[in-house]
Amino acid sequence: MQNIYLNIYKPNSFNLKKAKKYIENCNIIGLPTETVYGLAGNAYSDKSVKKIYSLKKRPRVNPLIIHFKNLKDLKSDVILNSTFVKLYKAFCPGPITFILKKNPKSKISQIACGGKKTIAIRIPKHKIARKLLKILKVPLAAPSANISSKISPTSAMDVCDEFGKKIKFVLDGGRCKIGLESTIVDLTSRPTILRHGVITPKKIYKVLKKKILVNQKPKSITAPGQLNLHYSPGIPVYINKLEPRKGGAFITFGKKFKNDKNYFNLSKTGNLNEAASNLYKTMRYIKKLKFKSISVCKIPNVEFGRAINDRLKKASYS
Ligand code: AMP
Ligand code: MG
Repeated sequence: MQNIYLNIYKPNSFNLKKAKKYIENCNIIGLPTETVYGLAGNAYSDKSVKKIYSLKKRPRVNPLIIHFKNLKDLKSDVILNSTFVKLYKAFCPGPITFILKKNPKSKISQIACGGKKTIAIRIPKHKIARKLLKILKVPLAAPSANISSKISPTSAMDVCDEFGKKIKFVLDGGRCKIGLESTIVDLTSRPTILRHGVITPKKIYKVLKKKILVNQKPKSITAPGQLNLHYSPGIPVYINKLEPRKGGAFITFGKKFKNDKNYFNLSKTGNLNEAASNLYKTMRYIKKLKFKSISVCKIPNVEFGRAINDRLKKASYS
């Protein structure tokens, strides 16, 4: 029988060199990170970046997050500020993205920045992503490896399910530990959270010693991440429910729910980190089982729960 996942590669040194060649030849690969899998290409190359937009069917106004190995490497592309340095020291490498002003000398593709004078940068912690960045001479543009407006992939197989043969090379880094996208912090003016993630406002407050603004609804909508329907599993999602709909599945959280064939518990112990890491995996599984809809119980809107609720709210938009 033919293996339909022939394009998934073990992350050994031979395959990492192969990945490097792919990137150098302006090809796109599937890359594991600690948050979700990315669709990675050379951030300095317009050709690579155009391929990412086209694979994802992503509108060009929605800029891409650029992944670097360390602070030294990003100095030539962005203008650093003291808030960034503090947050970098506290959280990097890790699941946080910073919007910074672009260095006029930057070689990052203008297309990757959606024509803006800012760049979104991230220093991933996943050891495979780091190994690849270490042998490359360029940063990686890497949005989540899913079709625009759909849920992010949290395993190499999810990437293949999403793109089939269109992606020829996916590095297998196992299941993503965090399972939800990075926290995004805009540092171009007063520090503001644009997207919730595992690095919560409270954790940032502890470092900066001042309250950080939260603004997930900018005045002008320019990016799908800011549009209402996003993170969609492809079937209707209903939030804050007590039971499933007819023919539908029910996503639960905590110990008070029964075990039934259409009940899927994100964390029986009520652990928000565990729930976040199971969310997309569970939604993909429910879709595969051909349930008609997903109802979700109330999830506490604290700590990492804010990120879970943010994704669910957008997934439930109709
Ligand atoms: P996603 O790729 O869906 O994880 O979303 C990345 C988000 O980061 C985008 O939707 C933007 O809101 C933000 N972003 C990325 N690049 C930039 C940039 N150059 N300037 C401002 N915001 C950005
Ligand atoms: Mg995305």
